[in-house]
Amino acid sequence: MPSKDADDEIEVRCPECDAVVRVTVAEAERTNKAKCPNGHEVPLAKALG
Ligand SMILES: [Zn+2]
Repeated sequence: MPSKDADDEIEVRCPECDAVVRVTVAEAERTNKAKCPNGHEVPLAKALG
């Protein structure tokens, strides 16, 4: 059961290694990028809808 409001996570795929990267919406909005577990930076498009 989801019990959090502002900590929703989104999933994106790293364009370099295709790993799934999970990032909170709050962090995505703040940084506009996510960190792939393999060290790549994943730019986040405006898909936060
Ligand atoms: Zn990667």
